Amino acid sequence: MTHATSITRRHDLVRLEMRRLGVDALLVTHLPNIRYLTGFVGTAGAVIVTGQRCELLVDFRYATAARDLAAALPAGAVTVHAVDRSYDVAIVARLRDLRALRIGIEAPWLSVKRFNVLSADLAAGAPLPMERSEPCPVLVATERVVERLRAIKDEVEVAALREGGRRLSAIARGVHELVAPGRTELEIAADLEAALRRAGFSRPAFETIVASGPNSALPHARPGARAVESGDAVVLDFGGVYDGYCVDLTRTVQLGAPSTALQRLYDAVSAAHDAAIAAVKPGVRPSAIDAAARDVLRARGLGDAFGHGTGHGLGLEVHEDPRIARETPGVPDDPVEAGMVFTIEPGAYVPGIGGVRIEDDVLVVAGGCEPLTDAPSLIRARGLEA
Ligand code: ZN
Ligand code: ZN
Repeated sequence: MTHATSITRRHDLVRLEMRRLGVDALLVTHLPNIRYLTGFVGTAGAVIVTGQRCELLVDFRYATAARDLAAALPAGAVTVHAVDRSYDVAIVARLRDLRALRIGIEAPWLSVKRFNVLSADLAAGAPLPMERSEPCPVLVATERVVERLRAIKDEVEVAALREGGRRLSAIARGVHELVAPGRTELEIAADLEAALRRAGFSRPAFETIVASGPNSALPHARPGARAVESGDAVVLDFGGVYDGYCVDLTRTVQLGAPSTALQRLYDAVSAAHDAAIAAVKPGVRPSAIDAAARDVLRARGLGDAFGHGTGHGLGLEVHEDPRIARETPGVPDDPVEAGMVFTIEPGAYVPGIGGVRIEDDVLVVAGGCEPLTDAPSLIRARGLEA
């Protein structure tokens, strides 16, 4: 499979879903979805998919880049249209030209304001009711049309995620050298981000977390001026974007000897992490994978210390489908399928003691999962003995 064949296959799959939804066009405005359907990377753009066409609308800044990428695809797979006044004016003009009547929009990503503008402009351009031979175009709310496809990675995507995971693991295996008494969280975070660039990542996938000592009990602490001390647990959560795809890993580095209470957290989180990974295989619901981790922590009296989900999908975005979490009304809990990539990241956070999180990335394969990241789950750094 090449980039070109994976793009045209994605179009076929979107069209199948459009037929199921009864829409004759789909307006795609979420940038990661635009990238998925065309390969286009930019800060603005829109895509219109119809039964025959996939049109990419970009402004002057991106016109050349967009034409180059369309030229690398089979003829007609993606056609580029220049936006010269505003995106919404161009979108309405294209939808009219394409004679689209039932137009799917990405409800989670289109603001109410834009929805109103597009609806009004489409209606304004339609013939008056008494002259109308065909109905006025309508916008139809859709959700997760492209996201559902993105959840199952194709060969091209798996190759990028595997390579990203390999490179991230190499950094993880060296983190004990970054964590030393007297170094601040900010210094360690800067070193991790420099290591990401050196390893070939285009950028960090999110703001690097370094949380030491008391801060480790805060799951999403931001690195600060605190200097790490012997006895600290130091949570390092970092990730990078490799070839467009996000990978994400957490290790908790122990500086010097842990307290008995902290050692109990390490043992429990490590067991929860292994139990969740062992539960991953096609056909299992995300809530069951979450329960595998949560039950281990609960059995050790740490149920309340684990207040977040067990994992999240990875891909063009660092948080995408599927969510590996407790069953929640309104949140999909469809069984996981081969080709999905997500994190497993249980943690336990106890104010006064500290926090531990261990996070790895897995690819669902027939019968189980393939780990994409690999580093010792418990890492010791030398602390100065008090
Ligand atoms: Zn993470
Ligand atoms: Zn994560």
